[in-house]
Amino acid sequence: MTDRRTELADNLTRVEERISSACAAVGRERQEVTLVVVTKTYPASDVRLLAELGVRHVAENRDQDAAPKAAECADLPLTWHFVGQLQTNKVRSVVSYADVVHSVDRIRLVTVLSAAAVRADRELDCLIQVALDAESGERGDRGGVAPDGVGALADALAGAEALRPAGLMTVAPLAGPFAGRPRAAFDRLMEISTGLRADHPAANMVSAGMSADLDDAVAAGATHVRVGSAVLGVRPRLG
Ligand SMILES: *Cc1c(COP(=O)(O)O)cnc(C)c1O
Repeated sequence: MTDRRTELADNLTRVEERISSACAAVGRERQEVTLVVVTKTYPASDVRLLAELGVRHVAENRDQDAAPKAAECADLPLTWHFVGQLQTNKVRSVVSYADVVHSVDRIRLVTVLSAAAVRADRELDCLIQVALDAESGERGDRGGVAPDGVGALADALAGAEALRPAGLMTVAPLAGPFAGRPRAAFDRLMEISTGLRADHPAANMVSAGMSADLDDAVAAGATHVRVGSAVLGVRPRLG
């Protein structure tokens, strides 16, 4: 094995152990949690190694980087997740490779995503990004809708052609009442998820937890964890 392959394999083993033990601690089955490896800032060659090591879900947050990488890796059996703030002028490109969009946070984006998906003859799973630190009716600094905007967005997704309301996503807030309390943040997300599923039973994905707090997310009930640096290493630049 190459050094990089060994490094990625070792890191994956450690992340796998964290997910397994977090599941075991709360009596969840390991299969209830999907590992999504966030490959942003890392090259397509790493994505290829990850696929060889059994990874099936990868995520990116910038279309400029993701589009060429996804094209280079089109032969691999991967599901691509888009997890970054999404500008409407990038939607057409994102829809060409992404299977899941985690960052739906405004009605306008639903409209544009739906039109692009119809045109590309694709079906997209859409997660609503919740900003747990946003005030009523507002969006957060890092994207996401305030919790009281989730219902309207879910209804819009359910009514949009070629889109499915698939669940919720959050990033543990750095400010506000949940700062430094990822477990409390993820518990709150689960409450919002319960409310969402009352109206949209199939919208049962809960995307929460990154390298630093995936254990808390799994304990709270996350179905998808988005892990970057714990698998690939600390990123050389902000991304
Ligand atoms: C970068 C990123 C991650 C992964 O973060 P790590 O701390 O490297 O695990 C997860 N989710 C989103 C939305 C990201 O942008």
